[in-house]
Amino acid sequence: MRHIAIIGSGPAGFYTAEAAQKQWGEDVRVDIFDKLPVPYGLIRTGVAPDHQSIKGVSRRYEKAALTDQVRFVGNVSVGADVSIAELQQLYDAVVLATGAPNDRAFDIPGADLGNVFGSASLVGWYNGHPQFADLNPDLSGRHAVVIGMGNVALDVARILAKTESEFAGSDIVGHALDALKSSGVEHITILGRRGPHQIMMTPKELGELAHLERASPRVRLDDLPDPAEDALLEPGLRKSVTHLRSFAAIPEDMHAEKPVEVEFDFFASPTAMTGDGNVASVEIERTEVRTGRAVGTGESYSIPADIVVTCIGYRSSPIEGVPFDERAGRFANDDGRILTGLYCVGWARRGPSGTIGTNRPDGYALIDKIAEDIDAGLLGRTGKKGREGFDALAVDRKLDIITFRDWKKIEEAEEAAAREGAPREKFVDIEAMIKAGH
Ligand code: NAP
Repeated sequence: MRHIAIIGSGPAGFYTAEAAQKQWGEDVRVDIFDKLPVPYGLIRTGVAPDHQSIKGVSRRYEKAALTDQVRFVGNVSVGADVSIAELQQLYDAVVLATGAPNDRAFDIPGADLGNVFGSASLVGWYNGHPQFADLNPDLSGRHAVVIGMGNVALDVARILAKTESEFAGSDIVGHALDALKSSGVEHITILGRRGPHQIMMTPKELGELAHLERASPRVRLDDLPDPAEDALLEPGLRKSVTHLRSFAAIPEDMHAEKPVEVEFDFFASPTAMTGDGNVASVEIERTEVRTGRAVGTGESYSIPADIVVTCIGYRSSPIEGVPFDERAGRFANDDGRILTGLYCVGWARRGPSGTIGTNRPDGYALIDKIAEDIDAGLLGRTGKKGREGFDALAVDRKLDIITFRDWKKIEEAEEAAAREGAPREKFVDIEAMIKAGH
């Protein structure tokens, strides 16, 4: 029997578990640990609440979790409740699928002012992550500034722009919906330090901005390169740029019909934030793109900002004793191998890129590597204690484990508490989750 411990129950963790099942069939036992009492990581707390079809992939993960080979072990904090070294004693392979839950730092003067948030915290807030449920962003001002031109920036801008009725069928948490209902935000500026040809936004997601009830996207025609240059772009980016061109073609009278504007400000590199207590404005230097890089032109201006959200990427959390690549913000690894018997997968391996689906081949490739290492005799003797050994340790330490069956009770309670038309109302408090689970 092979014993695998996976730390993190998000997409990377579950696809890896699924791959292990395919690889070893009845001869494997996989324990998926999560420090929260609830599974699915980014699917639950990262994917936008109005993108329910993406969240639907959790049904596939549930299938894996309901087999004998795979089990969910919630409410266990690896590093605090049990160490990596202890898990390595018990399991043949330990896989870090811990994602990249921390915001990349945005070190400009004033970034520590009030009402400036990293996307991890704001997204966590509207998605009911217990760590950010009390964020309490002040949405009373007119001007929101979103920094970055990736899909997270799009999510944040769209959520800030939507009306209450546009959240029907979403699982946005009650506290966020209430705050957004009385939001004063009328102008959302998305700042990109480079140009339209360098955006990271994907076409489907970008296209959604054109169909918002009360908001319209605005792109300055002058910012767009010669249309002939679009032909050189890879097809996905070309489609995204086509959306930008259609936004630039929206006539003024159509903008006027919508009270909220989502403005794209390209070639705009924030240099400082100013304000007294809370942020009030963002100072920006104009850039031009030279050989792909944003270079300051020396021209500067400032825009009003009552709330700022930086969406500039994420970093993994280091774990004591595990080699970490500080520059890249992820575990130091060679194609998923960190140390003998210790591996990483998903964002913890490659950094915060790709879609949910990217984690599938990632998980399968890692299991191939683990199988290679087993065949090469690198993982040592068989006969490790696996989950039986962990259960003994858990009893010893009086760990309050949440099983998948417990999670199903939490899920039931969340479904029962849902507002009309919504799939669930999430618990945002860990104690409440545990209580519902038991
Ligand atoms: P991302 O796609 O890497 O975009 C980050 C953005 O931040 C880029 O525009 C980058 O500009 C900008 N940026 C970085 N450092 C900056 C700085 N110092 N100053 C100004 N701008 C800066 O990251 P993300 O939006 O966080 O998304 C992470 C991953 O999740 C992506 O793969 C994304 O596609 C995925 N995702 C997918 C969906 C979906 O499919 N619906 C939703 C959300 C997220 P430069 O290019 O100039 O560096």
